[in-house]
Amino acid sequence: MSIPFHAITAETPTPDKLAACYAALNARLDEGDMSRAVAEWEQTRRAVEQWSALTHLRFEQDTQDEARKAAQDYRDELAPTITNHETSFKTRLLAHSNRDAVARTAGAHALRLWETDITTFSPEIENDLQAESKLQSRYVALLASARIEIGGKTVNLSGLAPYQQSPDRRIRHQAEQARWHFFSANAAAFDEIYDSLVKLRTRMARKLGFGSFTGLGYRRMRRMDYGPADVAAYREQVRLHVTPLVQRFHERRREQEGWDRLHAWDEPMVDAQGNVEPAGDESFLRAQAQGMFEAMNGDLAAFYQDMNENGFLDLDNRPAKAPGGFCTSFPSAGMPFIFANFNGTHHDIDVFTHEMGHAFQNYRSRHLASFDYLWPTYESAEIHSMSLEHLAYPHIARMVGEENAARYRRMHLIQSIAFLPYGVCVDHFQHEVYANPDATPAERHAMWKKLEALYMPWRNWGDLAYPARGGRWQAQGHIYSAPFYYIDYTLAECCALQFWVKSREDYAKALRDYVALCGLGGSKPFLGLVQAAGLTSPFQPGVLEGAVKAARTVLGL
Ligand code: ZN
Repeated sequence: MSIPFHAITAETPTPDKLAACYAALNARLDEGDMSRAVAEWEQTRRAVEQWSALTHLRFEQDTQDEARKAAQDYRDELAPTITNHETSFKTRLLAHSNRDAVARTAGAHALRLWETDITTFSPEIENDLQAESKLQSRYVALLASARIEIGGKTVNLSGLAPYQQSPDRRIRHQAEQARWHFFSANAAAFDEIYDSLVKLRTRMARKLGFGSFTGLGYRRMRRMDYGPADVAAYREQVRLHVTPLVQRFHERRREQEGWDRLHAWDEPMVDAQGNVEPAGDESFLRAQAQGMFEAMNGDLAAFYQDMNENGFLDLDNRPAKAPGGFCTSFPSAGMPFIFANFNGTHHDIDVFTHEMGHAFQNYRSRHLASFDYLWPTYESAEIHSMSLEHLAYPHIARMVGEENAARYRRMHLIQSIAFLPYGVCVDHFQHEVYANPDATPAERHAMWKKLEALYMPWRNWGDLAYPARGGRWQAQGHIYSAPFYYIDYTLAECCALQFWVKSREDYAKALRDYVALCGLGGSKPFLGLVQAAGLTSPFQPGVLEGAVKAARTVLGL
């Protein structure tokens, strides 16, 4: 059993303390004691990360608390100083006279990660990074300021979700009208923030010697075994093999409902009886999840019990809580934490089937010596989370009720497939944006509109003028806050579908392979982890088509 969450603490670093700490680490290297220097550095990085994660989590748990907000601002301001120290130390280790010994101590893959990292930072861009983080916070604050009147209630953007999925078509339409009214009313700010981000990121890339932000963006994501050309070819696979499938599904829904046209607000409701909802509230789902994991795999069950009983789940929706859901971790304590906002829709189930995948991987990797291996890069991390969503299928009745289990599986599978064209569209858009950093906001909206028609030709915004002109992307936070991240979900989904296919052949073996993959953490790059898990690279021609084919058969498309 772990220590309880409330007992986890962290010391706040200061510029002076960090300088002294790194001076001591450098002194160890001067003395010739490389392995001790690396071991002490590992402890330092874990402690700093534990403070950073805890500070961020406390702020997200209560965004109205002034002290938590001030601590979060301080964390953002200190981040480039921390990066500066880390980059210098990595650079020094990479230049070590006995590089093989460093590789044996820290891990060979860690050295390749550092080689990537050191090209993404120079003290010259410290102020730019602070400015970037301020712009990102402005975007989040702008989203959080939304107060939307609907159904006699005032809700924020997350609170709109149940209305966007209502079985009543008029309510879904109203929800989308309300959402785009908010974006339209704040259009100038959304455009201005993104325009500043694009120009700032381009400036940083040029200072570091990149031709555009794209190269820097890939390196910030620590990608080392594929590049923009592989990603472009993958997007084309999605357009060729997934777009027609989703189009066929929507056309069938339109006929089924007797609608003249399928509108954008009809897309989220994929089941004629209405999307499946959880069979109970938070305490019900918490208890049911224990049984679900016990039926799946003993390691998952023991870990979930630890998380649940020791306070590592914060799931209810409170007014001052930040929207959304995520998994974070406290590396000195060796425990992850799941943050969510339950809203009564099927998204609540994702906490147990998606975020738990992240948490379990992090927990299984906590003993790895290298700090850099505690989490893999994001396209790999999303394999752990998205595969668990599919691996939960045979036991999902515990969360939705026996009578709804088959409908849940169908809904989830359709939504997984229908996500792919949108996912690659978000990625393609960003490649165009950073290839043309001087484009005007109106030109960016036109780029989105063109790509939306390419990947989602069925998309019909009806009377919603703002998204019809190409504004949909402004609701996708990753475009503002995590450039080039989004393709990762689509690559991971291709791997998760492969796990699903395997689980239908031999469930116990698929689970064992899954647990083993989680234990590898980030010790290999994406394609190395894919291979170690017995999966095939999504970049290999025909792999996506094969994975989607199994789903097409099950869905009868
Ligand atoms: Zn995730």
